Amino acid sequence: MVNGFHSKINLYPEVCNLCGGKVIYTDNKNIYHGKSYGSGKCYICTNCGAYVGTHKPRPKEAFGILANPEMRKLKHICHQQFDNFWQGKPNRSKKRKKAYAEMAKILEIPVEECHFGYFDLVMLKKAYKAIKQMQARRKKLLK
Ligand SMILES: [Zn+2]
Repeated sequence: MVNGFHSKINLYPEVCNLCGGKVIYTDNKNIYHGKSYGSGKCYICTNCGAYVGTHKPRPKEAFGILANPEMRKLKHICHQQFDNFWQGKPNRSKKRKKAYAEMAKILEIPVEECHFGYFDLVMLKKAYKAIKQMQARRKKLLK
């Protein structure tokens, strides 16, 4: 692990990335208040309760690493701020791509590994700072 970043993410986890506990693959309705969500499946740590959802077309493939409440909260905030760079804007898929490339550059990681779901707490904090930097840059350009 370098700078808190796992460059190889296991999308089929068996061991918890947070506590080393046993991870099981199960229905996610116990997590999302009895409602099934997304693929309907998740990976959950039997020790600390951290979890991660999975892709709908590939229900065995996790979105990223298992997250605890603190990570989920920060991930949510990061996504909200980050999505403002492209959401509801013209050329949004191009803008989205550019924004990810810009963030990856600031974080000094390959763009294909630049996903909030892949970030641990240390990395999420760095990503949050990177987003603030990107917002400041855009403000400057508007002046
Ligand atoms: Zn755990």
